[in-house]
Amino acid sequence: MILENTQLIFHNFATMKKVYLDNASTTAIRPEVITEMTKILSEDYGNPSSTHSFGRNAKSILELSRKSIAKHLNVSAQEIIFTSCGTEATNWILRSAVKDLKVKRIITSKIEHHAVLYTVLALQKEYDIQVDYVAVRPNGEIDITHLVELLSQEKKTLVSLMHVNNEIGTVLNLDRISTICQEHNVLFHSDTVQSIGKTVIDLQKLPIDFIVASAHKFHGPKGVGFAFVRKNSGLQPLFYGGEQEKGLRAGTEALHQIAGMAKALSLSYANLEAEKNSITELRTYLINQLKIEFPEFKINGSSEGFYTVLNVLLPFSEDKTAMILFHLDMKGIAVSRGSACQSGSVKPSHVLAEMLSNEDLKKPSLRISFSHENTKEDIDLLIQALKSI
Ligand code: PLP
Repeated sequence: MILENTQLIFHNFATMKKVYLDNASTTAIRPEVITEMTKILSEDYGNPSSTHSFGRNAKSILELSRKSIAKHLNVSAQEIIFTSCGTEATNWILRSAVKDLKVKRIITSKIEHHAVLYTVLALQKEYDIQVDYVAVRPNGEIDITHLVELLSQEKKTLVSLMHVNNEIGTVLNLDRISTICQEHNVLFHSDTVQSIGKTVIDLQKLPIDFIVASAHKFHGPKGVGFAFVRKNSGLQPLFYGGEQEKGLRAGTEALHQIAGMAKALSLSYANLEAEKNSITELRTYLINQLKIEFPEFKINGSSEGFYTVLNVLLPFSEDKTAMILFHLDMKGIAVSRGSACQSGSVKPSHVLAEMLSNEDLKKPSLRISFSHENTKEDIDLLIQALKSI
């Protein structure tokens, strides 16, 4: 009997419609990207460093991928360096800025991704640099007046502030911040992992020194990313070996990943307007449905936040908090925790902890993040599931 029930549960789970609303964690690969990568894996297996025809073919795919990515950001191809992920790119840039460019102070915020936060802490420990955190407003936006105040100190400085926050979707005004950094003659690194491929970034117009990206956030493969490093930056490699990537990132290039990333980025920008409109519509639909069904819900961050992310605090009692993600998962719905308690984790989200009162931090918050693959039906299923809690 127990076996039959278990089988029934598994059967129902396997056949029910699954809803993926966790696109800030990672995204599905586009079919065209898989086709491109499969072709390269089976046909273009040469090593780009080899001088024979197989190698030359691979090299040409590598450089065409680089050119294509550079074109989307309006930079020159040599300013794009391939890495294994966004985390690696950020580690490299921040570490070399301190070690080689002799940066003595990093200004960042407490709501950055751990790729930045933990790297900065490690550098502080190792090199005894000064670290300052810009104040964050209750809506999750960076306090620009405070940044300007911090910049009045004379010290070789790098500012690291993310473009789109992965938990609450707040958007940094890149134009304003990069101009402020330029005026104060400090370096500016921005973690653009959540925004690349989802909004146009023209690096000819923005005086940013470094940005980083990760293919799996824009419907490309995992395990590949890139850094944009402005010409003559003086950065030195994170580790040593071959001459790949002009010696800045040794190791045989993962050609299928890189070409897959370039294809994914091109498709993202080719479809940008249409996909942005449909996702924005869905996000607004979800907000309106929440207003109807849970009138006391609150948006963590700003309702004006980035179109792919919505972080909401739900008016559920604390005893329901622990079960909420599990309950949604049982219904085939994937979202992410907004605050700690539901995930069983002992630590609250470091981003929400900066913005919410202790009282609100105990309540369930959810991060719902969208892609072009989501539909109104997905939102309806989510709302139904939330109503049944
Ligand atoms: N920065 C942000 C804002 C992210 O959302 C992520 C991914 O979770 C990363 C950095 C890390 O990227 P990767 O998975 O490529 O290391």
